[in-house]
Amino acid sequence: MPNKYVLPELPYKYNALEPVISQEIMTLHHDKHHAAYVNGANAALDKLDKARKGEAQIDIKAVLRDYSFHFGGHILHSIFWPNMAPPGKGGGTPGGAIGDKIKADFGGFDKFKQQFGDAAKAVEGSGWALLLYDNTTDQLVLTQIEKQNFMHLAQLPILLGIDVWEHAYYLQYKNDRGAYVDKWWDVVNWSDVDQRFTKAKR
Ligand code: MN
Repeated sequence: MPNKYVLPELPYKYNALEPVISQEIMTLHHDKHHAAYVNGANAALDKLDKARKGEAQIDIKAVLRDYSFHFGGHILHSIFWPNMAPPGKGGGTPGGAIGDKIKADFGGFDKFKQQFGDAAKAVEGSGWALLLYDNTTDQLVLTQIEKQNFMHLAQLPILLGIDVWEHAYYLQYKNDRGAYVDKWWDVVNWSDVDQRFTKAKR
């Protein structure tokens, strides 16, 4: 039996991100959606394991696709939760090394916020906008993820991500993804982003 993925606990209470993200969204998002990705990734690994032992026949393409979907979801949500903090603790303007780097690479925090926000709002269908660090060129880069599959993603460390699947905002913001993205800045945990950046630079 392969090692299992485990659902991490939220680093705050389910209602801690209110009024930006409601307790109901956080509860469903973590306990149902993220949990399903963990279970799905484990199930896919289990199928591969059984196939290797001759205990099952599998469609390798389908199982690996399934694995990338669920594993990708697990990885992204595991970064998304600590990327956020209750309003007051989160939000504001980034300081530290990441604050300086954003200023240097984007020409200012407002310009970064604009472009990252535009990227999030423009994701086609379900997906994510991410801030990555490219250590081959020492620069911050933006990317969009369609759905959550990691099959094709270059392995650049993820510093900050926003989930723009409808399950992340619909119960509260209905179809107004733009309003959710604009409010989300109030819960960004810049000290977590700064720690990820420091680690990525090593
Ligand atoms: Mn999600």
